[in-house]
Amino acid sequence: MQCSLCNSTHTLLLFKTKKRTYYQCNHCSTICLHPDFYLLPTFEKERYDKHSDDIEDKGYQNFVSPLINSVTTNYKTTNIGLDYGCGKTAIVQQLLQRKGFSINGYDPIYFPNTAPLKLTYDFITCCEVAEHFYTPFLEFKKLNQLLLPNGKLFLKTYLYDNTIDFGTWWYKNDPTHVVFYTKKSLEFIKENCGFSQLVIHNDHIILSK
Ligand SMILES: [Zn+2]
Repeated sequence: MQCSLCNSTHTLLLFKTKKRTYYQCNHCSTICLHPDFYLLPTFEKERYDKHSDDIEDKGYQNFVSPLINSVTTNYKTTNIGLDYGCGKTAIVQQLLQRKGFSINGYDPIYFPNTAPLKLTYDFITCCEVAEHFYTPFLEFKKLNQLLLPNGKLFLKTYLYDNTIDFGTWWYKNDPTHVVFYTKKSLEFIKENCGFSQLVIHNDHIILSK
């Protein structure tokens, strides 16, 4: 099969169960779920509807805190942001708004109004979203185009590396997770989607335009 990030056909079967088959790209190391196993949109939404929806939940706030802290460290409240794939609770958007930031939200399922995608931003947050991208190359190019010069994309997704046993890796068990990135995938994105700098922290990633 073809890699959904770099389009290479040099992919190898990595893991197979009765329910799903995953391939890893020899060129960029990205792991892709075979498209035959993508969920139908109704099942996808059903799954998303089960996600936590209480933004006052401290555990939920802690989960998104790496992005909140990184934005508040790097930006002032006069900067304008976008929370891309904000989900039904838009928790990142709401928590940053509480800190005084102006931040728009977009989500293809819950907030599908595309007006925010016609603007450009100082920063974009993308929290537990990139692993749902069916067309990651186009998505990262689009995110780059939504950033102003020197703008930053704050990303939270769990990276795969060789120390992880994919077969028992909890992160793959969510059927809406269709692509898993490695350090090499992120370097490919940096080089090919218009970014100038990549910084990988242990709990989040920053791609700068
Ligand atoms: Zn690839």
